[in-house]
Amino acid sequence: MNFSDLGLEPELLRAVTEKGYDTPTPIQAQAIPAVLAGRDVLAGAQTGTGKTASFVLPLLQKLEARKDSAPRVLVLTPTRELAAQIAQNARDYGKYKALRTIVIFGGVGENPQIQALRQGCDLLIATPGRLLDLANRGLADLSRVSHFVLDEADRMLDMGFIHDIKRVMKLLPQARQNLLFSATYNDDIRHLATRLLTNPVHIDVAPRNSTAERVEQVAFRVPKEQKRHLLVHLFGHGATDEGQWFQALVFTRTKHGANKLAQQLETAGIRAAAIHGNKSQSARVKALADFKAGKIAALVATEVASRGLDIKELPMVVNYELPNVPEDYVHRIGRTARAGATGRAVSLVAQDEASLLRDIEKTMRQSVPFIELPKFVVPASGSEATQASNSRPTENRPKQNQAPGTAHRARFTPDRRARSGERGSGPRRGAAGGRARST
Ligand code: AMP
Repeated sequence: MNFSDLGLEPELLRAVTEKGYDTPTPIQAQAIPAVLAGRDVLAGAQTGTGKTASFVLPLLQKLEARKDSAPRVLVLTPTRELAAQIAQNARDYGKYKALRTIVIFGGVGENPQIQALRQGCDLLIATPGRLLDLANRGLADLSRVSHFVLDEADRMLDMGFIHDIKRVMKLLPQARQNLLFSATYNDDIRHLATRLLTNPVHIDVAPRNSTAERVEQVAFRVPKEQKRHLLVHLFGHGATDEGQWFQALVFTRTKHGANKLAQQLETAGIRAAAIHGNKSQSARVKALADFKAGKIAALVATEVASRGLDIKELPMVVNYELPNVPEDYVHRIGRTARAGATGRAVSLVAQDEASLLRDIEKTMRQSVPFIELPKFVVPASGSEATQASNSRPTENRPKQNQAPGTAHRARFTPDRRARSGERGSGPRRGAAGGRARST
């Protein structure tokens, strides 16, 4: 199948070709004709499946350039990064059409956004908080919206945006086309879908909670206080004989933890930056740009900040700390192995995280094998002794007194027996989970 088979007009086909896309992804093949036909859509698709083009392309086609100042397409997203990415895509795909896209999110000055709204736009991509703020002050007019997209709806609900979403919906005209995208489904999403959508086309390219199968996942058992030293070692040597890691997205649970780890990595000579909700928008944009450009090797991120990040061919995701909510693990590792690439996810699991890993395995119905811990050096400074300190890993314990640089490298090849032992279904939590997310 080609993009030209989907009924897209020449201006859009030209832009898509220039982006280097050959064939539509499954979500695009199914959603583009449905959206063009004016249908409401309920789509199960994660970031990385090409979902953005699946709604942006047909909506660009449905809009004729007009002089109106009020937007006719509204896309709501959970994070600023995702909003900025969608807006960029809309500008790229729409470069041969005279349509205007603007993006609105919090954490930056509002004046340029107010100015842009005054000048008018056709597509408005926004996070809910800032949008409502501007709409309530009469600065954003949503009365002409004829196409409404709720992107990453599961994450929006996780982040507590349900009331904001309902408030935004009240500001929209009754007659409109609605599209809802969500990586996972639970009862809250179904309820929202029932409220929002009329006779929708159902498209599912991401079965419920399925893990990106192309991601090779392994874990190390390592005491908490030794994690950072292991991580430094891994950046230098890799988890196998693969050599240095050039680019890895490292997840911590807290903003403070992300800052601290980024600093520790820098001290150890690894270019690193942290990205989380307390960072200014300009710091986040810079960190992401530096990471994409290869200027920094480690981007240390919290859950929320990482959501939807589009980093091409990201080879490695590290779970420095496991998430409290199993579904977050799936989202985290979904940052790698995107658009046909293969990727790897390495988890550093302290003793008190063992139960979190079990929950993750149950949710994925797949096991994550432990692999042998490489020899790594724990500097004998402060209260820390050399490698085998008081709290040793219970398994894969490294040999002691290994000189730096002579470290034996761990096998990356996971224990296939462990992998093949797919688990049966266990009790599941909804996307919001039974545990609080700490970031
Ligand atoms: P998304 O899921 O929308 O975040 O897209 C993930 C990545 O896939 C982005 O970098 C897109 O530019 C890219 N992409 C989207 N559609 C295609 C396609 N048909 N062929 C190749 N790459 C694509």
